[in-house]
Amino acid sequence: MSDKLKLATVWLDGCSGCHMSFLDIDERILDVAALADLVYSPLVDNKQFPEMVDVTLIEGAVSSEEDYHKIRHVRAHTRILVSLGDCAVTANVPAMRNRFKVEAVLDRAYLENATLNQHIPIEVIPPLRKQSIPVHQVVPVDVFVPGCPPSADNIFYALTELLAGRMPELRTRTHFGA
Ligand code: SF4
Repeated sequence: MSDKLKLATVWLDGCSGCHMSFLDIDERILDVAALADLVYSPLVDNKQFPEMVDVTLIEGAVSSEEDYHKIRHVRAHTRILVSLGDCAVTANVPAMRNRFKVEAVLDRAYLENATLNQHIPIEVIPPLRKQSIPVHQVVPVDVFVPGCPPSADNIFYALTELLAGRMPELRTRTHFGA
């Protein structure tokens, strides 16, 4: 059994761009791998969130009932929770639907804008909550990494600082949208 730190990444309501930016750290992934094992992520096979993870990066807002229950579970099993990207930090793009009722959003997506197979799915797609909200409105968040997406350099910096036991200083490196 490895004695390295445990790292996880979680995908809530986001476009996967933050995960793509994480992968853009390129060969520096080897530096991360020297410090931590990636134990849960859309990028690995494990479907069960481990009993305790040292650092978890969260992409996306909390938009569905599934997101809500997942983030509460992840928070309970994570030492340091990181909101990664503007959707996690502010709800950003997912929150654009907040001024409309859920029924109107579903009608628009699955009926008005569909040319084939027009129907609102009631299986597989988790029910939407009334509003898309940032992660910290559901659970406490320890570190915020803004950007849409955050740059690979900033992700690498934040991650390696956290894995080294230090709190990253991101205020001068990041801002909303970049
Ligand atoms: Fe996509 Fe930007 Fe949201 Fe990241 S912050 S999930 S890149 S829209």
